[in-house]
Amino acid sequence: MKRLLTPRVRRSLDDEPVHRPPLKFLCAMCGEGYENRSQFERHVLGAHPPRAPSASDVAKTLKGLHFPVTRDQLTRRAEPRVRELIQQLPKREFRSVTDLTKALKALKDQPIG
Ligand SMILES: [Zn+2]
Repeated sequence: MKRLLTPRVRRSLDDEPVHRPPLKFLCAMCGEGYENRSQFERHVLGAHPPRAPSASDVAKTLKGLHFPVTRDQLTRRAEPRVRELIQQLPKREFRSVTDLTKALKALKDQPIG
């Protein structure tokens, strides 16, 4: 057994072509795969920041909207981080900014489960 692990044998083992391991970290949100955790985490934070889009993210989405607007129309134009919030809105038409922001506020006031 000892013979098997002479430096020479060991080197030849090391030189063997390394098979690319399957990607260990798959993003559940977009299906991207990453080999190590830090890459994966950087992706998630960059591409899918955790909850609570900022007020300015929401404002960007609302900017230039023509009312009435349906939830589906909103979903299509929202940035990914806002989209999640929009999708929680009731599936109906919103008549005005006030109507919409009220609905958004109601969502935010709900305890986050
Ligand atoms: Zn992703």
